[in-house]
Amino acid sequence: MRVPLLDLDAQYTDLLEEIKAEMEKVFNSHQYVLGPQVAEFEKNMEKFCSVNNAIGCASGTDALVLALKALEIDKGDEVITTPFTFFASASSIIRVGAKPVFVDINNETLNINPTKIEAAINSRTKAILPVHLFGQPSEMDKIMDIAERYDLKVIEDNAQGIGAKYDGKVAGTIGDIGTLSFFPSKNLGAMGDAGMCLTNNNELASRLKQLRVHGENPKYYHKWVGLNSRLDTLQAAVLLKKLPHLKKWSIDRRKNAEYYYSKMNDIPNIQLPIIHEKAYTIYNQFTLLVEKRDELLNFLKNNNIGCAVYYPRPLHIQKCFSELEYKKGDLPNAEDIAKKVISIPIYSEITNEQQNYVISKIKEFYHV
Ligand SMILES: *Cc1c(COP(=O)(O)O)cnc(C)c1O
Repeated sequence: MRVPLLDLDAQYTDLLEEIKAEMEKVFNSHQYVLGPQVAEFEKNMEKFCSVNNAIGCASGTDALVLALKALEIDKGDEVITTPFTFFASASSIIRVGAKPVFVDINNETLNINPTKIEAAINSRTKAILPVHLFGQPSEMDKIMDIAERYDLKVIEDNAQGIGAKYDGKVAGTIGDIGTLSFFPSKNLGAMGDAGMCLTNNNELASRLKQLRVHGENPKYYHKWVGLNSRLDTLQAAVLLKKLPHLKKWSIDRRKNAEYYYSKMNDIPNIQLPIIHEKAYTIYNQFTLLVEKRDELLNFLKNNNIGCAVYYPRPLHIQKCFSELEYKKGDLPNAEDIAKKVISIPIYSEITNEQQNYVISKIKEFYHV
């Protein structure tokens, strides 16, 4: 048996004809940049996320840069974030000239630990950038409370958590701006790069719309130095056809997770994902904490099971951030967790038979 980490084929086979027809409309209209599919997809996303404004852009990384620029985060400013995330959560802060300040994670949720944020705040701190890792929202009630008390902006990196909720609120719509990625491996994936900003603040929305077209308004008059970062019309056409299925796909992921929980609670060497009581996760990844991680990774791969380590090295000790002068031992939870994580297949179309195979191989490895 073979179980890939993600099987995009299953999703696309059903929708390919519909997607092709929508793409053909784009070809024929010649409206390749900010064509009508972009506005239609944005409108549908506003409804899906119950948010006033959805602004498409070229990638999840650009969405973060646009969000930081819209909030006027600049040289000399500091932004508090987590060290245990995808690179772009911190590189976007550097890209606008600001400094990422890393706060250690909670070793259960694997998200930023809100109780450690206040100690990192100083007069240069302008924003908090929590990440909803693997589809589980960070503790937004506590983060918003701190932001309010210290007058800080909040940018939610929701690249992995589209449709997730915290305390009944849609992830990515709780802070000032939330960002999404439609990278093919996210729960809603394009056929290339694409991203989006979400905000309930209409003024920020209008600024984001200008920033994605070089900061111009009207045309050729520039108030800000923006980016060239539009959501491609062809990608919008793909996403338009996929969005109606997203809810079911995420529910299926949750069912697949339930199946793992019910069959793997008797393996002492692994910790299954711990979900905060207020969080509704959409399981972009199903990430275990395990003993002998690297050996297990090899064993599963040798048995044709796709798995991956997200992420092997926390950001504060990445070479490119050495100027920030962090050292090993500074953020012990993130460093410890990075040695234990392994993500196993959880995609919507995985069968119970395939899950049984994954489970049996994990049990075989630990002699359970
Ligand atoms: C995927 C991802 C991004 C970047 O999105 P791209 O569309 O690949 O640029 C940013 N942050 C997190 C947490 C991600 O998982």
